[in-house]
Amino acid sequence: EAKRDPGTSYRFYDRQLHISAGYQLRLEADLRNALRGKELELYYQPRIDLATEEVRGVECLLRWNHPERGLVGPDEFIPVAERSGLIVPIGYWVIEQACKRLQESTELGFPGLVFAVNLSFRQFHDRKMTETIFRIIFNANVDTSLLELELTESAMMHDPEYAQRCLRELNQLGISFALDDFGTGFSSLSNLQHLPISLVKIDKSFVQELGQSADAEHIIRAIISLAHSLQISVVAEGVETDGQLEFLRQQHCDEIQGYYYARPMPWNDLVQFMNRQNQSACLQK
Ligand code: C2E
Ligand code: MG
Ligand code: MG
Ligand code: MG
Repeated sequence: EAKRDPGTSYRFYDRQLHISAGYQLRLEADLRNALRGKELELYYQPRIDLATEEVRGVECLLRWNHPERGLVGPDEFIPVAERSGLIVPIGYWVIEQACKRLQESTELGFPGLVFAVNLSFRQFHDRKMTETIFRIIFNANVDTSLLELELTESAMMHDPEYAQRCLRELNQLGISFALDDFGTGFSSLSNLQHLPISLVKIDKSFVQELGQSADAEHIIRAIISLAHSLQISVVAEGVETDGQLEFLRQQHCDEIQGYYYARPMPWNDLVQFMNRQNQSACLQK
């Protein structure tokens, strides 16, 4: 149809563009309200230690309870938040919230549970980042060794000197760092050896190709062996099947995160999940 009537097709295209720009603006305005109106919520996905089968930590994942559209996932709104700069206040809210839950988790009898928070590119490059994070953890009065920040290769490698300075400053406060979605960027682990990174998260695209692609196996093996030789632990993301789990166990992957064990869930569900998990661990002893 587009070929028969280029004029119509142009107008159609234009209208699409228009809708999409309007949609973006609308989303941005909604998001601004969301932050004020408490529509944002953290979900928590457990990370399991492969050696002990215990929950070592949780990744905090943002969700938006939109009044009309229901639960909206981060892949839909993080890019908008990133472009508009809203990711900066949202990101600090996430860290504050994670610190609150960290406090609570100790009171609930889960001491030592690690809380991992994602830091976006833009937030990492906010001039007041280290200062603001310092203030948040100081006010929350939490054990900072239980707080882990996840960054991607591109956020770290954009300005390596800046990254080194920030990571060291925060690391001195006790915060640890994980390299997220590893394998999808262009850096190698050896580029990162001077940064205080204690964990690498293998991107789920590799894990999900296990059994279908020999390359995925080779890449995962190489990441694990190089990381371990640098004293860095490895988490595999997106583990869904027995086969994937078995392969990762054989390769001495340290932890796994994926639907196989648990999906991201609201705080109250996580508390129930942890209680069940602890109970079955007690029964086994
Ligand atoms: P990520 O940090 O790589 O988080 C892991 C994503 O993989 C999560 O998606 C999680 O739900 C999903 N996942 C975990 N296990 C499985 C599995 O077995 N199968 C499949 N198919 N998926 C699995 P989610 O929650 O939709 O988050 C997507 C991305 O949004 C995150 O990727 C992260 O980059 C970003 N994000 C989430 N929360 C925040 C936040 O608070 N701040 C920032 N800056 N980014 C965030
Ligand atoms: Mg992450
Ligand atoms: Mg990831
Ligand atoms: Mg990802």
